[in-house]
Amino acid sequence: MKLTTIVPCYNEQEALELFYEELNRVTKQMSDVTFEILFINDGSKDDTLKIIKKLAKADERVKYVSFSRNFGKEAAIYAGLSNASGDLVAIMDADLQDPPSLLPEMYRAITEEGYDSVATRRVNRKGEPPIRSFFARMFYRIMNKICKTEVVDGARDFRLMNRPFVNALLDMKEYNRFSKGLFGWVGFETKWIEFENVERVAGETKWSFWKLFLYAIDGVVAFSTMPLSFAALVGILMCVISVIAILFIVIRQVCFGGSAFGWPSMACIIIFIGGIQLFCMGILGSYLAKTYLEVKGRPIYICKETNIEKEEK
Ligand code: UDP
Ligand code: MG
Repeated sequence: MKLTTIVPCYNEQEALELFYEELNRVTKQMSDVTFEILFINDGSKDDTLKIIKKLAKADERVKYVSFSRNFGKEAAIYAGLSNASGDLVAIMDADLQDPPSLLPEMYRAITEEGYDSVATRRVNRKGEPPIRSFFARMFYRIMNKICKTEVVDGARDFRLMNRPFVNALLDMKEYNRFSKGLFGWVGFETKWIEFENVERVAGETKWSFWKLFLYAIDGVVAFSTMPLSFAALVGILMCVISVIAILFIVIRQVCFGGSAFGWPSMACIIIFIGGIQLFCMGILGSYLAKTYLEVKGRPIYICKETNIEKEEK
């Protein structure tokens, strides 16, 4: 059995060696498995690539793909999946927030218990700012209401998958990738392992609140068309309300007379309806924008440097 671990790295110079040591400790315990450690350098601006090259020189199991610029973690995951040569493939962060010590248990679940993939979920969000946790929870609640695909709260991208699962992921060639959704969408038998949240060993998180917010919108747009129906529903509702209002005014005029007054209220109504229209156009716009990006068919990542030989790919 060959097991590839994909490690997306973006400015991880502080954490990388610690990660490698920890992973090495675990690979020693799993002596019946051949490892391939595939680092994806996502356009880091620090010494990440240098460290990766150093590791690759000392350890022939270390492979790397280095991007021409920062393409984002989703692109890094895709690059990893498409370059992995293992029968089993794991994805893990470079900051040790995904404990490599879980690997033996995950490995057993696939080889002995017959699962296709093993996913991990953190049961708490210890050490995370409270507002961030609050919005994360809201996101998962909304997402699961409006999408058919299940997105599990607290799920990490840390996963071990077998070949059929990986091939299914690779068959989805979409440009706007939202892995948490894609994992659920492909189906298969997945085992969930829970663990306590671990804080990153070194360096800083690469996700600002704003980046996460935009990522959440990407997720909704990629996996649900509900917001579009919402626009239509609001439109219908406004029509019904306006018909009732017109009837009310006409009847009042006929029966009591002198009811046509009050331009301030009219101004409010115009602004209100204008706002709703713009909002709905915004929803349409975001789907159009995503479609535009898909249609262009640009590559998901551009590889600048790698030590993987062509026939291995
Ligand atoms: N990452 C990446 N490209 C990016 C941002 C992050 O490859 O543009 C990697 C990063 O190096 C790390 C993983 O994705 O290995 C998770 O990032 P981070 O720990 O910053 O996120 P958090 O755990 O705080 O959500
Ligand atoms: Mg992290």
